[in-house]
Amino acid sequence: MNTEKVAELARTVELAQTGQQDAAIALVRTDEGRRYMDTLRRDLGQLLDEWRQKRVAATRDAHARLLLGTVALAITALLVCALAIYVQFVQRRAFARIHARSAVLDRQAAQDPLTGLPNRRRLLAAVAALEEQPDPGRVALLYMDIDGFKRVNDALGHSAGDALLRRLAVSLRSVTRETDGLARVGGDEFVLLASDCGDDGQLRELAARLIDRVRSSGEHEYGGRFPVGMSIGIATLPDCVQDVDELLDVADAAMYVAKRTGRSTYAFGSSSEMLGTNVVPFRR
Ligand code: GH3
Ligand code: MG
Repeated sequence: MNTEKVAELARTVELAQTGQQDAAIALVRTDEGRRYMDTLRRDLGQLLDEWRQKRVAATRDAHARLLLGTVALAITALLVCALAIYVQFVQRRAFARIHARSAVLDRQAAQDPLTGLPNRRRLLAAVAALEEQPDPGRVALLYMDIDGFKRVNDALGHSAGDALLRRLAVSLRSVTRETDGLARVGGDEFVLLASDCGDDGQLRELAARLIDRVRSSGEHEYGGRFPVGMSIGIATLPDCVQDVDELLDVADAAMYVAKRTGRSTYAFGSSSEMLGTNVVPFRR
């Protein structure tokens, strides 16, 4: 269109320059140039409209893509958060289970499964802990072994022996202070660790009470068919035993002295460099 308008102008100029003024004016009056310009303007308008429409469509498309991207990003962030929360939840639950399981194992490792009393391991830990205490006061360890227990096992069977051990554990616990530690340390062997145990007179009373209780439990269980008694060895810290590590051994040795002396009695033991073993027969 531009070239047609330019050609029309060139022809008009040429006519005017060659002296054909009238022909040039006639050519201008034909309005051919204005028509060319109108057509040009219309075409340009259409082009501009198309361009604007394309720009609006491109802007809309860009907005839609931006929105889609933002939504996808938000969903991804939400999923990542949810995953992190879930992983933390699973981790905490696993830790709680492991913690509970290890607490159960710890308890089991320190407990006698037959009687539910603390076992030898736990007793040794309690004895060792005495060393950490700045002033534990007078502490007594009573080593107890049931007299005549094998007869029950042999005559009535192992499960009857087990039942008797369970019963004796309850009996012994019933005549001791809550604060004193009672443990089953072997087959028919129990240990009482008594802190603030008082003087020897109080320990004699305690030993007599324990023996009496075991006897009456046996009597109640078997009506005298199987006499059950108990021999006790007693060691006290710090007067008769000074080294915590010796407490158990001295009491154990004293218990054997009580056995040899006739059973159902108790004996006080001491470290070799201190007093000798002092056996006091107990008869009801
Ligand atoms: P003493 O008067 O000399 O102490 O002899 P005792 O008959 O009491 O027998 P002793 O203390 O020498 O041995 C304890 C027995 O207890 C040995 C073992 O057969 C039995 N025993 C060990 N552990 C268990 C157990 O868990 N259950 C039962 N029923 N018997 C056990
Ligand atoms: Mg025994």
